[in-house]
Formats: sequence, structure tokens, C-alpha cells
Amino acid sequence: MPRPQSMRWYERGADAVARVRPDLPRCYICPTGEGSFPPEHAGKLSREHVPPQGLGLASRPLVLICGGCNSRFGSGPDVQMLRVQTLVRFPRGAMQRPERVRMVTGGLTVRTDLSTRDGTYEIVVLPRENDPAIQSRFETEVPELLAEGREFHIQIPGCSEVETTAGWLRVGYLVAFATFGYRYALSDELAPVRAHITDPSGSPLPTYYNAVPEAAESDRWVAAVVDPPDMRSIVVNVAHHRVFLPVPDDAEFYDRRASERQRLGRAARRLRAKAFHWPREPMHLLDFS
Ligand SMILES: [Zn+2]
Repeated sequence: MPRPQSMRWYERGADAVARVRPDLPRCYICPTGEGSFPPEHAGKLSREHVPPQGLGLASRPLVLICGGCNSRFGSGPDVQMLRVQTLVRFPRGAMQRPERVRMVTGGLTVRTDLSTRDGTYEIVVLPRENDPAIQSRFETEVPELLAEGREFHIQIPGCSEVETTAGWLRVGYLVAFATFGYRYALSDELAPVRAHITDPSGSPLPTYYNAVPEAAESDRWVAAVVDPPDMRSIVVNVAHHRVFLPVPDDAEFYDRRASERQRLGRAARRLRAKAFHWPREPMHLLDFS
């Protein structure tokens, strides 16, 4: 038996579909998969946590999506987002669990477990997974390099940057859906966003994501950029992840942003934006207006 909250969200979503798509029989449309669910199939929908649970970021159920989307995201992108989010906390000495990675520095690559405890770092080189000669060079040379402040890079085997950032695009898209509803989320301008969320490597989409290392983990906001005109967009920020979504009637947004980035680099621009309340449940602001 679906929870009362799910049923309320179902009815509000179905009321919204009736406004936006009066040609359809009564149904709820999964915002990520676009499948439609008549009342007798409402039980196939489940409450999706946004952002995904387990990242150590405040997470709560926000929208209904279908079981197919739920298990597809949970088995792939969510796992990668979790591993990256764990490692993001390494420099601050605040990892919740060890993470197995390839560490690259001083021309050496070794497999290590990284962890932190009470603000100190632990780098454990795994004897069975490394060439002994490289391991012994790493153990003698690298502590000196790190003491000098030399950079190192971390590769996360099995993790793809495009899938991880697409996971954050989904977070931004679901927050925008919860705020504005179907009229926005199912618009033609959002079709490339929906395609990229469903198939990140098959439908590439550039320039929608900014990492914001200086943001706080508690930062949450959704806003519409109104100025400058060429930057008009919906921006969703969760912790140090920022996602840009096009506004209706602007199919050129990402192309424009890509060419501008080529021209100006990543220089910060002053933006003027209108803030919206962070949604706690599906609001469908545009569907009922
Ligand atoms: Zn779905």
C-alpha cells in the first residue's frame, strides 16, 4: 500500500499532467523516464531522495519516479557519486570511509587505500596490487614529494566523470521539476537534459556543471538568472555542485555557454538572479499558474 505522502504527490502530479497534457487519460508521468502511470499503477512509483542518500549531504524524498529509473540510477551513477563525494572530503580530513584509488604523483602510479581519521591522512599502499619495485620507490620518494607540497592526482577505477556529473545534473533537474513542474521539465528545451541523464555517454551535453569548492556542504539554492541576458538559466546548487539548466524558449543555452567558455575561459561573471524557495515536495509552480 503506497504511503499517504506518495499518494498525495501522485494526485498532485496527475492534476498537473491534466493541466499540461489534457489529451492524456489521467496519469502521472515519471520525470526522468517519461513513462506514464495511470492510477492503478501508482504503486510502481517511489519517492526519490534528492540528493541521493549516503553522500553525507542532507537528503530527503522530493519527487516520485518510476521503479525502473530508481534502480538504474541506484546501481550506477549513485555509487559513483558516493565514491567521488567521499574523496572530496579527503583534503579536509573528513572521509567517512576508506576509498580504493590509483594515486599518481612524481611519475609513479600505485593502488592505495585513502582514508582520514580525526583530521589526519592515511595512505596505505596495497602490497598485492602493486609492482614491488614501484611500491618501494613510492614509499621512499613520495613522502618527500608530499612534504614539499607536490600535487598528486587520484584516479577512481570504475568511475567516469561524465556519469558522475550527469548524476548531479539529475539532482538539479529533479529540484527544478519539484519547483516548476511538468510545464518546465518536459519542455522541448529540456529534451537534451533528459537524454543526457538517461544516457550520459550516448548523449553528450557540455557546460552544464560547475564544481564550487569554496561552497559549504549545507549550501542549497535554486534560482533563475535574469541578467546578463545571455546567461538566463535555472541554477541549482547543492553543496559544491552547481548545475545550469536552460529556460524555456532558449534551445541555444549550452552551445552559447560552450563558445563563451572558449572565448573567456572560466572567469567568474557577475550574475543577477531571482531566488526560489528550496522545494520540500513537488510544488508544480508553473503547472497550475
Ligand atoms: Zn522513470
